[in-house]
Amino acid sequence: MSLNPEVIIDLAALKHNASLVAQAAPYSKRLAVIKADAYGHGMLAVAQALSMVDGFAVARLDEAIMLRKAGIKKVVLVLSGFMSQEQVDQFARYDLDAVVHSEYQVGLLNSSHLSTPVSVWLKINTGMNRLGVDQSSVTRVYQALQLSGKVRLPMKLMTHLSCADDMASVSTEQQINCFDHCISGLSGEQSIANSAGLLGWKNAQRHWVRPGIMLYGGSPFQGAKASDEGLQAVMTFKSQVISLKTIKKGSFVGYGATWQAEKTRLIATVGVGYGDGYPRHASVGTPVLVAGQKATLVGRVSMDSISVDVSQCHHIQIGDEVVLWGVGLPIEEVAEKSNTISYDLMCGITSRVTRVIKEVDNGEQN
Ligand SMILES: *Cc1c(COP(=O)(O)O)cnc(C)c1O
Repeated sequence: MSLNPEVIIDLAALKHNASLVAQAAPYSKRLAVIKADAYGHGMLAVAQALSMVDGFAVARLDEAIMLRKAGIKKVVLVLSGFMSQEQVDQFARYDLDAVVHSEYQVGLLNSSHLSTPVSVWLKINTGMNRLGVDQSSVTRVYQALQLSGKVRLPMKLMTHLSCADDMASVSTEQQINCFDHCISGLSGEQSIANSAGLLGWKNAQRHWVRPGIMLYGGSPFQGAKASDEGLQAVMTFKSQVISLKTIKKGSFVGYGATWQAEKTRLIATVGVGYGDGYPRHASVGTPVLVAGQKATLVGRVSMDSISVDVSQCHHIQIGDEVVLWGVGLPIEEVAEKSNTISYDLMCGITSRVTRVIKEVDNGEQN
């Protein structure tokens, strides 16, 4: 009996979700977003399993170099680009694609001594106001990049949507229009859509789509379930019941004695806590699956354990499997009760949690 919490990573579910990207955006090339250790799923295992995509996007140069050192040959786009001359050299050395989002990066390219040009995705700020050159400087930066002699031409053109997860928002159409206005007359392949963009806004599917969360089986839409889109959970976070006790009416549970039993209750202590990445802000009533049965969190989340009211469950025993999220318990339900989003929960799994990769069965079609 293993008493450590684990995450099971189901590569068949990952491939299934990737096939839904292809169905939803059949005319676009796919850049799988695998930043932050593939949203906590394990970057290399995910990259190696996603043989059907056209490339990968990561946030930082180090992540990209790790992919190259592991033998990944496809396009690898670094979403933050470069910030120093040394980094520019590494883009050339490892044949990485760079997002150019700010004018200082043009200066870095111009003063470099590259023998081979770098592939550049010029990012335009269309309303997110995070990374991207402003509308008024697009043409100037584009021309400067074109004349630099350090850029493989034609460069690519991209933007990022701030509200694509909200189908009622007017921002997305405005951002798409702004993008089209900025790039009119400029040649180069285009990319706008993250998961929500590609599923919800057909006009955002250009030459390249950039799905992240949907690959992992998380819903990109507010208040939605991933299964509505046919997506399957890739990560299942599990632990076990390590203690069971019956407490009397009026007894308290956990730090701060914040939860009190209104009647006699059977409380299971589960070996998982915020030290493993279970959210400390999960509120009383957060669903937990104990031996396949729905139960609810009570009291505060500790570093190494949580308390679950299993009074309504049948035949609970020490060692029973507990699912915190994943197959059988949508991560969105836990995220909502914890006042956060699925992305945050996936990325938050800590290094002491064992990761078990479930390979695709040989008989299975994919
Ligand atoms: C993270 C990220 C994505 C992927 O977003 P999802 O919502 O996970 O699909 C796409 N593009 C950029 C620029 C990103 O930073």
